[in-house]
Amino acid sequence: MERFLGIDIGGTFLKVAFKENGEIKTEKIAVKEIQKKESFLENLREVVKKYNPNKIGIAIAGLVDKKTGLLTNSPNLKFLEGLNLKEFIEKEFNIEVFIENDANVAAFGEYVYGNGKGSKVLVCLTLGTGLGGGLVIDGKIFSGVSGSAMEIGHITVEKDGFLCHCGRKGCLESYVSSYGLERLYCLISEEKRSSFEIINLAKQNDDKAIQTFEIFTDYLAIGIMNIAHIFNPDTVLLSGGIIENYSDVLTLTKSKVEKLVFPLPLRDLHINSAKLGSWSGAYGALALAEVYSS
Ligand SMILES: [Zn+2]
Repeated sequence: MERFLGIDIGGTFLKVAFKENGEIKTEKIAVKEIQKKESFLENLREVVKKYNPNKIGIAIAGLVDKKTGLLTNSPNLKFLEGLNLKEFIEKEFNIEVFIENDANVAAFGEYVYGNGKGSKVLVCLTLGTGLGGGLVIDGKIFSGVSGSAMEIGHITVEKDGFLCHCGRKGCLESYVSSYGLERLYCLISEEKRSSFEIINLAKQNDDKAIQTFEIFTDYLAIGIMNIAHIFNPDTVLLSGGIIENYSDVLTLTKSKVEKLVFPLPLRDLHINSAKLGSWSGAYGALALAEVYSS
């Protein structure tokens, strides 16, 4: 009997989805010592030993070089940069491993287990600390030649706009992310609030918070318009804390996208919230192990 293991690697937790006999179990494991490579690898070894799978899928926050397998750029997992996780696990356990960027894997999770089922061209946007994007075309993750496609957070939507975490100006992420939301609110109200507080204020019909979300969804709609005009997707799924906690973002964005996108791509475009929430990476990694084969 085949046993598949999906691991979503984060800075503080490993999220695991394991499938055996058609049954899926999930587990969230706290990383013992944060930001320490050796201790992290020991955590990983324990998980692999515990579940003893035939195949492993891994979702990781960062860019995985398709040609060398190395994690080249990972702001939240700096201590793992330069590591080849696929090679490490395959050598140590003699198990086939598939690894991809977490935003791509999350999109694949939605395609196999979530609200992207049956979609021909699926785009997933994760609005969190940053803005992640994943693309699945005809059931395959599209990650480009080097593995770095769909850095949708870093398309420029404003010349000389807000400073982005990447160092450039006017990136979509610098508006459409938790820090973008906080900055927009600060600009309007001259007050510093967390994204969580801004959401609560908007729910209480606070003028400034409502105005902030108007601008926030203007930018999100522009981002989706660009995506729709390039990829002509049938499904765009939005996920992340802001979407989960404030459903008006979805409604507002939808109505704005309808006014921006050409009629033909708009006809087949469905915008929805994602289904798997913070587990999309683990489910996507599981799906990678199940579906992908070398
Ligand atoms: Zn950027």
